[in-house]
Amino acid sequence: MKKIVIAIDGNSGCGKSSTSKAIARQLQYIYIDTGAMYRAVTLFFIKNNIDLKNDLDVEEALKQIDISFEYNMETGKNETFLNGENVEHSIRQMDVSNLVSPVSEISRVRRKLVEQQRRLGAEKGVVMDGRDIGTVVFPDAELKIFMTANLEVRAERRQKELLEKNTNVELKEVIDNLENRDTIDTSRADSPLKKADDAYVVDTSNITFEEQVNQILKLVKDNIEVE
Ligand code: C5P
Repeated sequence: MKKIVIAIDGNSGCGKSSTSKAIARQLQYIYIDTGAMYRAVTLFFIKNNIDLKNDLDVEEALKQIDISFEYNMETGKNETFLNGENVEHSIRQMDVSNLVSPVSEISRVRRKLVEQQRRLGAEKGVVMDGRDIGTVVFPDAELKIFMTANLEVRAERRQKELLEKNTNVELKEVIDNLENRDTIDTSRADSPLKKADDAYVVDTSNITFEEQVNQILKLVKDNIEVE
């Protein structure tokens, strides 16, 4: 079967990454979590006290950042590395979640990451999730999905995910963080989160994980021309 690019965009916490991972596993595609890349940049900025408003500082910091992914055989997951260090755990903490959207508004940051994302997807056979994959990174992606879910459902799922990683966060704090990120992500000038005209909407509020994966796999099947 022909290999394609599958672009999955949507709000924070609507299950994009777990769904994308499952789709990639089924199709034997590569999965790229672009949110992890923005989170890794944010972690570097926090650790090095980078002033987001200082263009020169940001430019210099970006030159020192190298992001890569490695597959962990034990956990069966792709993990994020910042300058050779495994940061998979630290990029999911609330300090990073609270600053990642302001960092993602910076055009220089986006330019650097989008370039790397295009290289990572150049060979196709990739599921990439984020906010601007179908609109900016791969506007010609063969299949575009826009995932949504209502805020309470998203917050409860995210809180559970954090708890599974031994991080206990109040539901209110999770709701505030998701709401803030949604507002910044949808209203920023550069590459705002929006549905691509040719994207399929998958609302996951009232369906099970298995159902959402199957819905997307069916769309893949319908969209791939058998060679
Ligand atoms: O996907 P995740 O929730 O981990 O993304 C974290 C943040 O990174 C988002 O809230 C958004 O601000 C930013 N992001 C982005 N563009 C992407 C992926 C993520 O601006 N393609």
